[in-house]
Amino acid sequence: MKLELRGITKRFGTLVANDSINLTVEAGEIHALLGENGAGKSTLMNVLYGLYTADEGQILLDDKPQDFDGPGDAMAAGIGMVHQHFMLIPVFTVAENVALGNEPTGLLGSMDMAAARNKVLEISERFGFNVDPDALIEDLPVGIQQRVEIIKALSREARVLVLDEPTAVLTPQETDELMEIMRQLAKSGTSIVFITHKLREVKAVADKITVIRLGKVVGTASPDASTNELASMMVGREVELTVQKELSELGPALVEVKNISVLDDRLHRAVDDVSFDVFGGEILAIAGVQGNGQTELAEALVGVRSVIKGAGSIAVKGKDVTSASVRKVLEAGVAFIPEDRKKDGLVPEFTISENFMLNQSFTSRFTKGLNINFPLRKEIATDLVDRFDVRTPSIDTPAGKLSGGNQQKVVVARELARDVEVLIASQPTRGVDVGSIEFIHEQIVSERDRGKAVILISTELDEVLALADRIAVMYRGKIVGIVGPETPRETLGKMMAGVSA
Ligand code: ADP
Ligand code: MG
Repeated sequence: MKLELRGITKRFGTLVANDSINLTVEAGEIHALLGENGAGKSTLMNVLYGLYTADEGQILLDDKPQDFDGPGDAMAAGIGMVHQHFMLIPVFTVAENVALGNEPTGLLGSMDMAAARNKVLEISERFGFNVDPDALIEDLPVGIQQRVEIIKALSREARVLVLDEPTAVLTPQETDELMEIMRQLAKSGTSIVFITHKLREVKAVADKITVIRLGKVVGTASPDASTNELASMMVGREVELTVQKELSELGPALVEVKNISVLDDRLHRAVDDVSFDVFGGEILAIAGVQGNGQTELAEALVGVRSVIKGAGSIAVKGKDVTSASVRKVLEAGVAFIPEDRKKDGLVPEFTISENFMLNQSFTSRFTKGLNINFPLRKEIATDLVDRFDVRTPSIDTPAGKLSGGNQQKVVVARELARDVEVLIASQPTRGVDVGSIEFIHEQIVSERDRGKAVILISTELDEVLALADRIAVMYRGKIVGIVGPETPRETLGKMMAGVSA
């Protein structure tokens, strides 16, 4: 089915999230909607799916104007959407979840389960999904759960399928499989809107690309466009995607982790008998699909989370910091860029210069007796804003007012300004625009070149491959192998799925 969006405008208060957007997707076309975080991609799709009402503009399906009053209308017209966060019920089976979607009254007893099972089998067969209708959702890998979402949409006769950042939670192999499924669906006439910020995927699968930036369409491109061209369209200026990295001399082991195990909030063993050393002058990346213990490992390394008693040890520069407080770990010589800058990295109500002080307030640097040394604070803040290219009206602007990328630069600036020998960076570029990613990557490499030991925890394989000197892959709490940066993507993908190196 052909989809046309004409002049869609959607405002949230004074913010124009979609500004007169035009988009045409032909029947059987895979159309990539490419744009940075906050560009307005999800908003546009929520308008299409009837979740938001556009302030202006029109939706046409096969040239007929539509008027959606809620997702029910959109679904009835043939629109299917797989959201960034799945909406499946974990304790129900695949067939039950599919039946639920088809039964707006939602009473399990009143559904025709046999029909739902058959539907799952039929769709699964037709597109090679390999999904068992009787499996419980909670027992399925994320990649299969996603297929269930797709089956749900197809079972309602979706002829335009929207996939909102579907690969964020997948291994490289699962991503390849999803792309194959997309091709199959397109061949059968389904139109697909594929939302992503990953250029590699766009080039691999899209027939056509529309790039949006700050709520506006900035252009369309073919998948033959170079990644640099596409990135420049996304960001609005030239960007250098490859990080320059020289060979560096290895120093002593600055971090020694021996057989640690760590519990998560639900008291499951999230980190299971993990050991590694990190040397001065190297970047050790901890790779893996999200949710395999990386977050808990990072928290244990910096003292936010304790190591199971008697289970292993962590040393920084030869000093034991196992289950030490965060402050003790930082004092032992660790800088930390946390995964969730809003939760752990910044105080949004504090000004930028106040945020720079957060980690140093326990040193004498900013204080004179009981007073804060304001001139020094101002001098340092001005210098950091300048050196780290933080785009802000002033150093007295509250950090919460900055864009995501600039907030992250404040955290990075503060942490790198500390004179320490170990840097732990957890998802340092998550939710950060491409332009700022480039800058943050350069900073991380230059710390390594200065002889620091860097631990990079990242679920973005591209980031891992761009920066790492060695790659440790985590799966279900264990490190399945530590390999060199020349390791093929495919091998890394297998390791991310639990196959040891
Ligand atoms: P993308 O999906 O491209 O990352 P979104 O469509 O989610 O971007 O967001 C576009 C802009 O609209 C962002 O600035 C975001 O903060 C804002 N926004 C999205 N949803 C809402 C909402 N419900 N209320 C207010 N602002 C919103
Ligand atoms: Mg989005």
